Amino acid sequence: MKQTLLIILLFIIASSARAQTVTRTMAVTVDDLPYVMIGDGSYVTRGRAATMKILSTLKKHKAPAVAFVNEDKLNGDGRDARIDLLRQWVSQGEILGNHTFSHPDFNRLTVAQFEDEITKGELVTRQLMRAHQPYQLYFRHPMTHTGDTREKKEAIEKFLAARGYKITPHTIENSDFIFNVPYAQALQRRDDALAQRLRDAYLDLTMSATAFAEKISPEIFGHEIPQILLIHANDINADSLDEMLGRFEARGYTFVTLDQVMADPAYATTDTYVNNYGPTWLFRWSKSKGLSLDFSGDPDPPKWVMDLYNGH
Ligand SMILES: [Zn+2]
Repeated sequence: MKQTLLIILLFIIASSARAQTVTRTMAVTVDDLPYVMIGDGSYVTRGRAATMKILSTLKKHKAPAVAFVNEDKLNGDGRDARIDLLRQWVSQGEILGNHTFSHPDFNRLTVAQFEDEITKGELVTRQLMRAHQPYQLYFRHPMTHTGDTREKKEAIEKFLAARGYKITPHTIENSDFIFNVPYAQALQRRDDALAQRLRDAYLDLTMSATAFAEKISPEIFGHEIPQILLIHANDINADSLDEMLGRFEARGYTFVTLDQVMADPAYATTDTYVNNYGPTWLFRWSKSKGLSLDFSGDPDPPKWVMDLYNGH
């Protein structure tokens, strides 16, 4: 009997040691600040509620974030209160990045027009971040459209580098902007059952996308790399982020700064893949390295969610 207990004890010690050997890191990035509003109501009231939830969740999980701002969203009712939403991020120690002024599609703009969007998009943000200098400036292209011709792509890369910006990649994307539309509508209709179903499907897809990134990155780099999650400042993340970060932790993740993730040699890989859509950097790097890998396992939202999103 004593021997059985000892064996059980040894088994528990051995398996917990094994669990601890999986150590993974991830940086969280949040786009479209201060807030993505779907439906009616006061932008500031709803934005404040979402901001508080997202920030307290990041704090709870010790997850530093870089958050990307579209400064044209500050124009509207209560400009000062909207800027205050950004101030909350800064006072929690998060870094604000540039996501252009008005979130245009680079495919439809000239290089000069896009450069104008970048310079116009950093005015308030740089002011708010002044006390934190020096810090790494980060830029993320809207829809991660990095240039539909090689000339445009390289011209903007040069422009950004000259202004001190690093382009922010992402390796895990979960179509949160799609889930968020029917989710916000369900909340407004007080359809709790649908809201719950959407949150569950969203979290499941996030974990499948994460498992895919963990599987494909060794095929590109020979080992698993630190990940960069891309999400948006919206309602579904306000209500799901706590459980999402908990599920990442259960997979062995700890959350680190974007600077730390970008220091990994994998992130020094040049992205030479020219395209007119916005694939993940894992795909871009695989193409840049001349690899032809199977990305069909990178999950898309289920059909019932797409139907709701498309208004069926
Ligand atoms: Zn965006």
